[in-house]
Amino acid sequence: MNNRKTIDGTQRDNFARYINHSHKPNCEPNIVKGRVWIDAIKSIKPGEELTYDYGDEYFEEHIKPYGCKCVKCTAK
Ligand SMILES: [Zn+2]
Repeated sequence: MNNRKTIDGTQRDNFARYINHSHKPNCEPNIVKGRVWIDAIKSIKPGEELTYDYGDEYFEEHIKPYGCKCVKCTAK
């Protein structure tokens, strides 16, 4: 058994769009041949929210103006 699960981002109307940004993510996106694959980087409990780090550029433009709501940033 291993914890890595891959979700094809092209299925379900681009699944990756429903994954929220976090600075302490449990997934990471990998782009392979133009498709986004989401790999779990730690074990995820059923019902647990999937998150990944959107990256600095996206963060500065789209998240920073509203404030980051991720676990790491709200736990201050
Ligand atoms: Zn954050």
